[in-house]
Amino acid sequence: MQQAFKKALEGPIFQLISEAAHELSLDCYVIGGFVRDLILERGSHKDIDIVAIGSGITLAKKVAEKLPGQPKVSVFKNFGTAMIKYQDIDLEFVGARKESYQRDSRKPIVEDGTLQDDQNRRDFTINALALSLGKADFGELLDPFDGLKHLEEKLIKTPLEPGITYSDDPLRMMRAIRFATQLNFNIHLQSLQAITEHKDRIKIISKERIVDELNKIIASPVPSIGFKLLHQTGLLEYILPELTALQGIEEVEGQRHKDNFWHTLEVLDNIAPNTDNLWLRWAALLHDIGKAPTKRFDKKIGWTFHQHEFIGAKMVYKLFKRLRLPLNDKMKYVQKMVFMSSRPIVLAQDHVTDSAVRRLVFDAGEHVDELMTLCEADITTKNPKKQRKYKNNFKLVRTKIVEVEERDRIRNFQPPVSGEEIMKTFNLKPSREIGLIKDAIKDAILEGIIPNEYEAAREFMLKKGRELGLDEG
Ligand code: ATP
Repeated sequence: MQQAFKKALEGPIFQLISEAAHELSLDCYVIGGFVRDLILERGSHKDIDIVAIGSGITLAKKVAEKLPGQPKVSVFKNFGTAMIKYQDIDLEFVGARKESYQRDSRKPIVEDGTLQDDQNRRDFTINALALSLGKADFGELLDPFDGLKHLEEKLIKTPLEPGITYSDDPLRMMRAIRFATQLNFNIHLQSLQAITEHKDRIKIISKERIVDELNKIIASPVPSIGFKLLHQTGLLEYILPELTALQGIEEVEGQRHKDNFWHTLEVLDNIAPNTDNLWLRWAALLHDIGKAPTKRFDKKIGWTFHQHEFIGAKMVYKLFKRLRLPLNDKMKYVQKMVFMSSRPIVLAQDHVTDSAVRRLVFDAGEHVDELMTLCEADITTKNPKKQRKYKNNFKLVRTKIVEVEERDRIRNFQPPVSGEEIMKTFNLKPSREIGLIKDAIKDAILEGIIPNEYEAAREFMLKKGRELGLDEG
């Protein structure tokens, strides 16, 4: 193994850091994510954390002097850290430190420390692995907490007592679940218990930090791993109560509805292999949140969730605002996806007509393919016959979307006759009639009454004008 580490550190950067440290007579180590991902063979980790027994800032400056082009050193005096961006690599230098925490903050009191002190302050044993860059012991692995073994066992475990680790810095609860999801690891039982016990401490963590971790969970290959853990530990209730509200099955007069929480997690896992678009994944996560407040039992039709898409889209805004997610076009995109999330399903249950497809393309516009991806992921029925029927119908819808688009160019619909032309033709001032005529033309195109072409639209306009009793000027 040692040979392998030596080889991995053969790159000129590590040799150069080793030289610089030697000249300053201090020891230094590569630590954290780089070492973890090196052992896991996860591809090259572009953030390299270097811990120096002494001043990390001094070491960074020395390293920069030696690097071709002498890159800039960004110094963060308050944190005792320094950063160098070199090619596509971020080198971060820090002096080894000892940390102690107070109850009301995740900002520790920091003093200089040994490598062991520095490893003690790390969140997980698999993140506390260090490789020496010293001349004498270059490439030696320093693994005081069995991190290597835990990597093999696929285990997330804290170096110190888990209660203290999570209570000191509750962000680690999110990090534990995030790493478990990204790496498909298990969280050690005592850690899980400690997270459950200290879950309310998550309140001292900023929304931005929570969302950073949440986004990484959502972006993972099987995001439900993380959501199940968030749910199991009780953290989800603090972060996304809209989701936990979906849990449960009610039965009235022998009629049951599906558990929309577990259904949602299935939808999120279903969509993951088909898109890396984080916001489409968010839409999958939130597509049913309107179902909790709209759930009713109707004696004649059974369980209903009237207008849940509309209510859900409104809830998206509040949720984004609360979590300090961006309130920009990303939010609007998620709203739109949630709002339209049932449209293709309704279509696919029935006979698929051209005009219904044209309306779908018109309303979804440039996002119609993504909407289809969302709706295909929404098929979680365990009835193989229904499953086949919906999938086939979706295939048909997709084919028709292409056909209709080739013919009618609805996706980025521009009215073939402008409002100005309508005004000129009928000698009108800005008025309600113009809107009526424009809508009538659009509807005629979507219904397939006329093609999406200027001549046909103009003729239709003249006819509509006559119906409204307008004179051509
Ligand atoms: P990734 O880049 O995939 O997020 P990483 O392990 O490099 O993984 P960073 O957030 O860059 O994650 O952190 C670098 C290292 O710093 C970690 O490996 C860990 O040793 C330590 N660390 C980061 N955050 C914490 C924390 N909240 N508590 C304790 N140690 C932490």
